[in-house]
Amino acid sequence: MKAICVRRTGGPEVLVLEDLPDPVPGEGQVVVRLHAAGVNPVDIYIRSAAQGRQPSLPYVPGSDGAGVIEAVGSGVADVATGDRVYVSGAAQTPANGTYAERALCAAVQVHPLPLPLTFAQGAAINVPYATAYRAIVDRARAQPGETILVHGGSGGVGVAAIQIACAMGMKVYATAGTARGLQLVLEQGAHQAFDHHAGDYLSAIASASGGRGIDVIVEMLANVNLDKDLGLLARHGRVVVVGNRGRVEIDARQTMGRDAAILGMTLMNATPQDLARIHAALGAGLVNGSLRPIVGREFPLAEAAAAHAAVMEAGAYGKIVLVT
Ligand code: NAP
Repeated sequence: MKAICVRRTGGPEVLVLEDLPDPVPGEGQVVVRLHAAGVNPVDIYIRSAAQGRQPSLPYVPGSDGAGVIEAVGSGVADVATGDRVYVSGAAQTPANGTYAERALCAAVQVHPLPLPLTFAQGAAINVPYATAYRAIVDRARAQPGETILVHGGSGGVGVAAIQIACAMGMKVYATAGTARGLQLVLEQGAHQAFDHHAGDYLSAIASASGGRGIDVIVEMLANVNLDKDLGLLARHGRVVVVGNRGRVEIDARQTMGRDAAILGMTLMNATPQDLARIHAALGAGLVNGSLRPIVGREFPLAEAAAAHAAVMEAGAYGKIVLVT
């Protein structure tokens, strides 16, 4: 099969298309013939050994993808060849990932991809939607009727967070950095959109809440926004730090009078039980249409380097995916 293989960490040029052996499923495993793979910012951190991540080499990048079950190992009962699926990670064997024509997955790592969702949309589900769900439901314990600010709503996690919060019956505010992004977040159901590059957008958000403040903030760039977020919170408000790319100074006093909380999270801390629950919830939303992954750009698998460069550019618009 064709796959992107990384033999040394570094810039996008280390993503090289190679011929690798086709995977064979063992007990409890399946092989997915992938049609699309999702590109996440974490793929860039791993490739460049940034943020304390050092992958074992060589490796095939990617945890997200969608395709059709091609082969099933012994002991697999709930999945059959020909099933359309999206994947949530790949089996931890050498040179196995989703930037490839085939991936070896544990049976619990594949989930039904309902029609009419495309494979590209399927590749946009795992990390963004599971992260958004865990941030809003598990960490913030958000409630219907509460207000939420998706601070960075135009990218993969942001779009997912807006759709999940809308489906829960929250009042949703979202930010983006371009006119296109602002239009996108409104189309996903945000009740109001704000430009995070505008000088007065924080006071506009505070006014939109009627001066009460925001109950939950899902933060995509905490190193820029965390102190501002604290000033926007309502009493008992919670900020969930999803994305962060540097240090930040905060005035901790802003948390005191509000009984406010700053909550960190990483999807990697989710247990197998958490993931089963999260994907069951996402599956229901995909079937009833409240969750609708948005694919902004597609690149051929061979152009993974260009896709990695694009993910780090400003002006997000949903997900970037690779197609095989
Ligand atoms: P993405 O698709 O590249 O989106 C990035 C988002 O950040 C866009 O909406 C972008 O808006 C927004 N942004 C840029 N400048 C901003 C600012 N000053 N204030 C607020 N938002 C701003 O990335 P993603 O996949 O959604 O991931 C978002 C972040 O979460 C990344 O840092 C990623 O590493 C992290 N993440 C963490 C976890 C976890 O487990 N904790 C899981 C997944 C992702 P514009 O481009 O419109 O300006």
